[in-house]
Amino acid sequence: MDAAKSIARIERALDALGPHASSCRLCPRDCGVDRRAGELGYCRSPDRAGVARALLHFGEEPVLSGVPPRGRGSGTVFFTGCSLKCLFCQNHQISWSGRGRFLEDEELAAAMLDLQDRGAHNLNLVSPSHLLLPILRALKTAKKRGLRVPIVYNSHAYEKAEVVERLAGIVDIYLPDLKYKEASLAGRCSGAEDYFARAGPAIEEMFIQQPDLVLDVDGLARRGTIVRHLVLPGQASDSLALLDWLARTFPPSLPLSLMSQYRPCFRPPPDLDRPLSPEEYAAVLSRAQSLGFEHLFAQPELFGPGDHLNPDFDLEDPFPWKGRKDPPGGQR
Ligand code: SF4
Repeated sequence: MDAAKSIARIERALDALGPHASSCRLCPRDCGVDRRAGELGYCRSPDRAGVARALLHFGEEPVLSGVPPRGRGSGTVFFTGCSLKCLFCQNHQISWSGRGRFLEDEELAAAMLDLQDRGAHNLNLVSPSHLLLPILRALKTAKKRGLRVPIVYNSHAYEKAEVVERLAGIVDIYLPDLKYKEASLAGRCSGAEDYFARAGPAIEEMFIQQPDLVLDVDGLARRGTIVRHLVLPGQASDSLALLDWLARTFPPSLPLSLMSQYRPCFRPPPDLDRPLSPEEYAAVLSRAQSLGFEHLFAQPELFGPGDHLNPDFDLEDPFPWKGRKDPPGGQR
């Protein structure tokens, strides 16, 4: 889509979603707070975007980060706050604890353009759902100034489908992390018993907009919907139920990224206070293979003592394995 059309879509989305600035019901939490007046809802975010880090990220799926040595990384913006807030969140320093700096829209647009100038293959918006309005305002400015890399919407999938509808023609690549099927698990881990009731239709809407994974000549994604799932310890039955739903609902061409990188973080519930075992992951991976997913990204080798992908946002570089010749991540 050319820049003028894309900017027109952003303007229409801002018109439609604008009222949420003063009575926010952007996500299923339905807080109804006046964020422009400084009231804070569940996501603890005002009407400006908090940004914890904007960097070139080499740990995403190869179609997003690129493959060494030619891969230049995914231009990733880690936003502060979250509208889901899982008790085991590996980004808890920013999602729960609010680390980051509030940026004016102009500053955010400049950060987006800077990532493109540094060679990023795409602009990867991590946890964007609660900050859609400042993100859209910044995107409009950045597009006017020449932003042209694909826009990646990297979310926990706890979304309102009618809000996702407004992103048609703006988002190039949807990257929803589908977390839970069972309401009780979603309730005790994320305080969101309606998680799957919301995430399912939201992902269906994403797929309507971007049904095909389109790669360029270098194997990098230009468009598509890639569904992630993080396998949790002791919860293989929930993972299998999610895989069955995905296989029933979408064609086998739906790209699936099955993550094994769970490590207990922050305040995990007692039964999730241990790493995932290789056997648990292998069982879920085996089901995914037998269901016939044609594009399957996997992390089968991420179980060594030093192999983890948990960032530390206290460090200058939150991803210290970046310099290793063999970054953890297995054969994603
Ligand atoms: S985006 Fe934030 S303030 Fe708005 S409804 Fe969701 S949690 Fe509440």
